[in-house]
Amino acid sequence: MKEKKALIEYWRNSKIIMSKAILRAFEEINREDFVLPEYRKYAYVDEPLPTFADQTISQPTTVAIMTQALEPKPGQKILEIGSGSGYQAAILSEIVGPTGKVITIERIKDLAEFAKKNLKTYKNVKVVYADGSKGYIKEAPYDRIIVTAAAKKMPEVLFEQLKENGIMIIPVGALTWAQRLLKVKKVRGKKGIEDLGPFVFVPLVGSS
Ligand code: SAH
Repeated sequence: MKEKKALIEYWRNSKIIMSKAILRAFEEINREDFVLPEYRKYAYVDEPLPTFADQTISQPTTVAIMTQALEPKPGQKILEIGSGSGYQAAILSEIVGPTGKVITIERIKDLAEFAKKNLKTYKNVKVVYADGSKGYIKEAPYDRIIVTAAAKKMPEVLFEQLKENGIMIIPVGALTWAQRLLKVKKVRGKKGIEDLGPFVFVPLVGSS
């Protein structure tokens, strides 16, 4: 697809995305398979698109930047909170490969079903219909945690489910215009926080 190639070329040329494995995953996965049929023709416009219940599939460049910041590797176990369409989970599935696993949680039933349907052929992905603001203790600890909705403040309970040397990517901020995307590393049990700048996400519901 021409538009998809152009978007990936833009990331490559502008050096927004430097990782070959990540560029390859975006080449492999079709965003048009994760958007509602009426938006398929806009799949490679670099914008968020509506899914259900006022939620969105994130902008491709945001997905790419979050994926790169997460530093995913083959064989890892990754927790995603906010499955939405399942697109981000599909990208991660491609990177962790058959020896890795992606667990993705969605609190809106229609979206959990939408993600399940879109991810049906992805053997290393499990979609869970639940409130993910407390993480998912059953499969913890995780090498990586990615939160695709904004938390009011850093949820300690998620940090606890991260392995030593693990990385969590999470937008934090109570007000839409004041959200920061944070990269949190667990080093000797403590948080090392890097601020990746301002982004806009839908709110993480139910986080304390
Ligand atoms: N990663 C998605 C985009 C997600 S948009 C994709 O690739 O398409 C954010 C999603 O987080 C929404 O679907 C919203 O319903 C979900 N969400 C918000 N709070 C949540 C919570 N506490 N637990 C699980 N999902 C949540």
